[in-house]
Amino acid sequence: MKTKDIENFSENLKSKINFNYDLKKNNWFNIGGKTKLYFKAENLKELSEFLKIYNNRAKIFILGAGSNILLTDKLFEGVIIKLGKNFSKISLLNNETLIAGSGAMDRQLSEFALTNSISGFEFLSCIPGTIGGGIRMNSGCFNSEFKDILISVQAIDYNGNILTIPSKQIKFEYRDCSLPKDLIFLSASFKGKNKQKIIIENEMNDLKNKKNLAQPTKIKTGGSTFKNPIHQTSKKVWEIIKESVPLDIKFGDAAISEKHCNFFVNKKNAKFEDMKKLINFVKDKVKSKTGLKLELEIILVE
Ligand SMILES: Cc1cc2nc3c(=O)[nH]c(=O)nc-3n(C[C@H](O)[C@H](O)[C@H](O)COP(=O)(O)OP(=O)(O)OC[C@H]3O[C@@H](n4cnc5c(N)ncnc54)[C@H](O)[C@@H]3O)c2cc1C
Repeated sequence: MKTKDIENFSENLKSKINFNYDLKKNNWFNIGGKTKLYFKAENLKELSEFLKIYNNRAKIFILGAGSNILLTDKLFEGVIIKLGKNFSKISLLNNETLIAGSGAMDRQLSEFALTNSISGFEFLSCIPGTIGGGIRMNSGCFNSEFKDILISVQAIDYNGNILTIPSKQIKFEYRDCSLPKDLIFLSASFKGKNKQKIIIENEMNDLKNKKNLAQPTKIKTGGSTFKNPIHQTSKKVWEIIKESVPLDIKFGDAAISEKHCNFFVNKKNAKFEDMKKLINFVKDKVKSKTGLKLELEIILVE
């Protein structure tokens, strides 16, 4: 997209488009360069107007909380779209059903469910992403996943068409779903079960404690780097890495977390290429030691 194309946008939209926007602070790894365009949509009208005028001219990437991505250090030759506050609302549809904007944080939805005595959302208190990211990844932990609570998703495609997709029509897999890649999720409805608040609260605290014991916090990471190779072995990926890789390996400031060896960490100023070298090193070592082919869970944005 050329700078002169921006003239086609309304004054309101122009003021929300940033050029050469730095993405480093917008993701958990704290890695990455700039994007040619960055657009923060405050509401659906703005998002729809933007998509129509942008007209699929170059790449589009939807940024959630940036907790599952590794961004290139080179210029991203497209637009990064972020959903603003109006996409973060959560409300009660009836006593067991909730609707959440896709920009809302998972943690907020679990707190809202707790306040309304709805169980099923406890696991969300352990995932540091947004509802949109959680749907795309079918995120989960402690034997629960998004697919277990989702009823339907409302989305807009890159041409500006709005659609509602019932969960039954979506094929969910471990950390993936069949929803087309050119959809921006707007909101979703979820169903849980009524339970006493104290039971829900205890469950949430239990899960958070378990998570804190097993996984590192307050580090620059993208969470689990690789998926568990569930179709190849019952072993967890961290066990496989532990058995196959020297855990003190470093490329620049990219290292393996001491607490959980499937969490890779930017110790200070790691570059995209450092992290990629670490990823490839671990992948190759695991392949040569065990024959297992590891698949990335984190998404590379290039
Ligand atoms: C410390 C830590 C712990 C973690 N623990 C877990 C865990 O227990 N379980 C787990 O499953 N994951 C875990 N993760 C990974 C991550 O938090 C989840 O995958 C999360 O759901 C990603 O959400 P996000 O908003 O950060 O998405 P992002 O990382 O910003 O994006 C991920 C993908 O979702 C897409 N996306 C985001 N929003 C939308 C939208 N509105 N419409 C369409 N596509 C969208 C992006 O384009 C991208 O493809 C962890 C990560 C960290 C850093």
